[in-house]
Amino acid sequence: MTFEELKSKIQKHSPDINVDLLKKAYEYARSAHEGQNRMTGEPYINHPMETAVKLAEFKLDQTTIIAGILHDVPEDTDRTVEDIRKEFGSEVSFLVEGITKLGTIKYRGVDRFTENLRKMFVAMAEDVRVIFIKFADRMHNLETLNALPKVKQQRIARETIEIYAPIAGRLGMHSIKGQLEDRAFPFAYPEEYQWLMETATHRREEQKKLVKQMIKQVNKTLKIAGIEKFTLDGRAKNNFSLYKKLIRKKYNKDINRIYDLVALRVIVPTIKDCYQVLGIIHQNWKPIPERFKDYIAQPKPNGYQSLHTDVFTDDNHQVEFQIRTKEMNEIAEYGIAAHFHYKESGQKNAPPLSKDGEAWLAQLKKIQEEITENAQLLETLKLDIFSDRIFVLTPEGDVIDLPEGANAIDFAYHIHSVVGDCCGGVKINGKMSSLTEPLKNGDMVEIILDKKRAGPSKDWLKTVKTHTAQSKIKAALRKQRLSIIDQLLNK
Ligand code: MN
Repeated sequence: MTFEELKSKIQKHSPDINVDLLKKAYEYARSAHEGQNRMTGEPYINHPMETAVKLAEFKLDQTTIIAGILHDVPEDTDRTVEDIRKEFGSEVSFLVEGITKLGTIKYRGVDRFTENLRKMFVAMAEDVRVIFIKFADRMHNLETLNALPKVKQQRIARETIEIYAPIAGRLGMHSIKGQLEDRAFPFAYPEEYQWLMETATHRREEQKKLVKQMIKQVNKTLKIAGIEKFTLDGRAKNNFSLYKKLIRKKYNKDINRIYDLVALRVIVPTIKDCYQVLGIIHQNWKPIPERFKDYIAQPKPNGYQSLHTDVFTDDNHQVEFQIRTKEMNEIAEYGIAAHFHYKESGQKNAPPLSKDGEAWLAQLKKIQEEITENAQLLETLKLDIFSDRIFVLTPEGDVIDLPEGANAIDFAYHIHSVVGDCCGGVKINGKMSSLTEPLKNGDMVEIILDKKRAGPSKDWLKTVKTHTAQSKIKAALRKQRLSIIDQLLNK
């Protein structure tokens, strides 16, 4: 990426950025990373530049954008944090140091998993902007995930969904959460992703057409009604959140029951405009009872504000409308990050963040308190989607997901049928345990092999939860029977 490209991409979101400073950071990072390449083969410098562009997109302040450009310098080059401080001042160097200290977060082993989370929260407590840089960094790494080996792809994708995305959600950064999840989804859960694509694509195309028609009509209707300033567009629901919704009991994997695959979003200058637009929409299209929600008068606990309503279109389809002000929209998408943007630009009609800003800080504090209890942490961050799945770890730190209630025998057969057939005992979190004891989320499971073992026991069939274990045990028992018959016949 040339400087001109970087400048124009950043100015699109952050028009007031100090161009001299931007240039200085660009040159500094370029010369520091000189000669380095990414796994994709492209020059290394593209990565910190893309990271910085994302930070601008996230509405972050100049200091964070500059720190984003420099974020890999101390880790990967011979220049130090101190060198950066001398050139760019202590605020930038503080952020870069935070990122460097955070290091690479690896989802390897339950202890390190919680340790990594702890590190993230500590960094966040010092300056939450460190976490934003980490998000932007991760987002670009996900975009170039194809260049990595499969095992690494899955690890990075899963930790994105399990660690990064929930934290983004807690910080109200819903757009970022959605992007992280959607980029990681195909790598983390390829089969589920495939299924969703097969299920949803057709319906989504239909809905897109529908929304396109509606946009035309609504545009006209609002103009006739005298609404002058508004933007109107159609937003497709994120893949991963659609997937989570579909597998909820209520929807029973039936895509036809979901009406917000594509929603219409109307953005207007004031709150008064929101209600006015709502009125106009309800006058022209019949609202569906019980589907109207006023999150302006009653914001969601995370501070989200918007009006939501579902209406029947002229040909009796259903569409969802979301009506909100520009400020509400920025908060909805960028959460706490939007705060820095407004603080810096000093805008008068900034969102009601003086109050919310404090709320955010209080929330941060609360999250930190939560994590002081390491044991509870996994539970707190566990996603609904996985409520019927557990994640256990091999001694090497690889993550295996199993249905709830699965035991060490399921685990052993998941690894390999030989491991299952010869499993003589198990250590769970370093302690000898029963093979049939149900495993818990985060357990580290080590199978003890018994080479003399003749094969599985018939009783195991009653205790296992996975199909894999069931069918492999049955196959092994059949073989045993055949060999006994063989022996008898040969006598
Ligand atoms: Mn990086």
